[in-house]
Amino acid sequence: MKDNILHWVISLFFPQQCIECKTIQKNIICNECLQKVTQNTSVKNITQKISIDYYFSYDSTIKEILHQIKFKKSIELAQEFAKEIAALPLPQEIQDKIEDHWIVIPIPSHPKRIKSRGFNHVSILFGDWIVEKNLVTLPLLKRKKHTQALFNLNPKEREDEVKDAFELLYPENVKNKNILLIDDIATSGTTLAEAHRLLTCHGAKKIKALTIAYTPKPGS
Ligand SMILES: [Zn+2]
Repeated sequence: MKDNILHWVISLFFPQQCIECKTIQKNIICNECLQKVTQNTSVKNITQKISIDYYFSYDSTIKEILHQIKFKKSIELAQEFAKEIAALPLPQEIQDKIEDHWIVIPIPSHPKRIKSRGFNHVSILFGDWIVEKNLVTLPLLKRKKHTQALFNLNPKEREDEVKDAFELLYPENVKNKNILLIDDIATSGTTLAEAHRLLTCHGAKKIKALTIAYTPKPGS
């Protein structure tokens, strides 16, 4: 709360420039530019242990937007961005098999992180999208381990770090179900693969993942 007031007071004296058009804005990117960024965006696929689709390469604009949402705690920007994301297409495989009753499960942050941020950014970013696509979301994953950032770790260390990071709530709900995992950024795919492993253990049928952004370069 104090932080929010302080941020608001600072923003009165130091208004921001939109990173695209440089006009003075309350957010890092103005609504008009946000719309342009999301125009003509298609679903792209990275093939890893789990099939991951994503919308954006992690370029400087997307990086700034997500940074602002996650670390500057801008819920307003998350809500604006969510409106644009809602209009983006479904991954083809899901579109083709929409009758398979996909259950959308967000990859959760640790409860402490959600508390300090004040909101669950993945749920907000995909909130309008889920409604728009008429999908069902169940927050069945809970992060029980406060994992450290993965970008400095090698593949084996990453796997060890995320091992047993999640707890599956109401496991009976995933048996024989098709699951779409959603997250903000995919890098190595290790976190999504761990969620995949847990859901497979509990009898999930098909599991796919969709993220907002993808960066093949850890830490970039
Ligand atoms: Zn702009």
